[in-house]
Amino acid sequence: MTDDQVPLCGRCDAVCCRLTVVLQPEDRIPQHMTTTQGGLQVMARDEEGWCVALDSAHMRCSYYETRPEVCRRFAMAGPYCLEVRADYSERTRQGIPLRLY
Ligand code: SF4
Repeated sequence: MTDDQVPLCGRCDAVCCRLTVVLQPEDRIPQHMTTTQGGLQVMARDEEGWCVALDSAHMRCSYYETRPEVCRRFAMAGPYCLEVRADYSERTRQGIPLRLY
């Protein structure tokens, strides 16, 4: 893999920030930024599917220092990261709306 192929966050459309973020009891996220889904407390998303904590002007987390535990465990360039990025690339290439997880 060459340097320009390394899957850095700076070369991604923050695809992981469209995934469902299930909150843990220890997470300290303001209530107005959360919702329930399937009986679980999760990060709320905007009408386009992005996590409401995403600073879309800069494509970065506005709660990075206190981001939820599941976000902390998400490994850049890990198997799940690569899988969702590949799915996103394929769907955008085909013009298929991105599925919300
Ligand atoms: S809390 Fe931050 S890192 Fe986690 S999904 Fe939302 S924007 Fe992304």
